[in-house]
Amino acid sequence: MKTTGCSESINASVKRLLGSQTPLSELIDQITIVIEMIDVVGQRRLMQQLSTNVDVRTMCSFEHHAAPILTPCAFSKIQEEIISSFQYLTSKKDHGTYEVTHFSKKEKGQNVSLMVEDNVMNCSCKGFEFTGIICRHSLHVLFKEHFIQIPDRYLPKRWRHSTSLISNVSSSTSATYDEHVQ
Ligand SMILES: [Zn+2]
Repeated sequence: MKTTGCSESINASVKRLLGSQTPLSELIDQITIVIEMIDVVGQRRLMQQLSTNVDVRTMCSFEHHAAPILTPCAFSKIQEEIISSFQYLTSKKDHGTYEVTHFSKKEKGQNVSLMVEDNVMNCSCKGFEFTGIICRHSLHVLFKEHFIQIPDRYLPKRWRHSTSLISNVSSSTSATYDEHVQ
């Protein structure tokens, strides 16, 4: 723990535990939680470090989400898809299906389906199935449907940094950290 603020916060939390009348078994459980929180902070810092080493080009949340998770090569490919996705238009068809067309109509339209319940997508271009990189059409639909992150299943493990054991430090984990350490 190099950040003084975090370090002090965790120290204060441990001192509170040590000073309490908590039974030993419960104390051990609580210290385990604090250790896990320290690990989460370390992961978060590592991801921030990784994200500063890549060239993020847009304010799109997808790009900022993927930057610390993916290897530079995979990130550059998904970045290209994200930037290209801005050139498309969507018309919603039946429930959960969309037709995605290039604004210039220079390409054939693609049909994309999205099952929101389990974040499963399917695009007729089959880009993800061929390359493992989510395609621009699917990204466009995610954007239209107000997703702020690319679903985990579309950031395959083989494209991730080996150090990125978790895809993101979720807000729920962050809340848990705040509850216990702040
Ligand atoms: Zn596609």
